[in-house]
Amino acid sequence: MTPKIIIFTDLDATLLDRDTFKFDKILSYLKELILKDICIIPNSSKTRQEIEVFNKELDENLSFVVENGAAIYNLNLINSSFPEKISLSREHDEILKVFDGKISSKFKSKCKFIKNLDIKKQMAVLGLPKEKIKASLNREYSIPLLFEGSKSDKIDLFKSVNDIGLSLQEGGRVINLSDKVSKSQAMKNVVKVFKKITKEKLFTIGIGDNYNDLDMLKNSDIPCLVFNDKFTLEKININNCLVSKKPAPEGWEEVVKLALEKIK
Ligand SMILES: [Mg+2]
Repeated sequence: MTPKIIIFTDLDATLLDRDTFKFDKILSYLKELILKDICIIPNSSKTRQEIEVFNKELDENLSFVVENGAAIYNLNLINSSFPEKISLSREHDEILKVFDGKISSKFKSKCKFIKNLDIKKQMAVLGLPKEKIKASLNREYSIPLLFEGSKSDKIDLFKSVNDIGLSLQEGGRVINLSDKVSKSQAMKNVVKVFKKITKEKLFTIGIGDNYNDLDMLKNSDIPCLVFNDKFTLEKININNCLVSKKPAPEGWEEVVKLALEKIK
């Protein structure tokens, strides 16, 4: 029996070029995988609106996970008995209310919310052109920020936020304040949905490039790291992690080929 393969993948600097956000160099490979009935599920800190744009650029209707595991969309497009949406998080306003009410002003004053910066600063921080800022800040479940304090303040803030039932997730460019969600939790939920209907062996391939991908990598059958000069394998502790030599997007193709070779 051929196994069912699901690829859970981060987007920024994993599948998309870190600076240009392009992926045309691996477009034909992506199409090839989809034709082979391999499921590719973006699992990103990006918003629904942003991943829908990605789907449009790819000209496919992939199911996807938004905002670091906060919600899963479009599983019904894989199988009509699957849910259209699974939400795993409280909403944006409620998260902000808890943060505002319970975090000391000493820390809050050092948190610069991206939505409050002027457009030029937003473009610089997010590395996005003006027309993509709106989709990036149209968040349902998380609030991106910069922390302007010392390293030890940062450690204390992360702990305080954790203590009040929320979490801070560090991505490539910003820190996201969110509910206690994770990419791995969302991944496990997707797998659970699949297991309800499939008797085939399931293989998960997890692909990322940064801290906020680690739990997803640790929990996948085949963890893959796309080369990122700021985040090397020495910093993580994952057995059998495949690592690409090239950065995104070519590094994505490189590790998927290695992973599929392993499954064979
Ligand atoms: Mg990334």
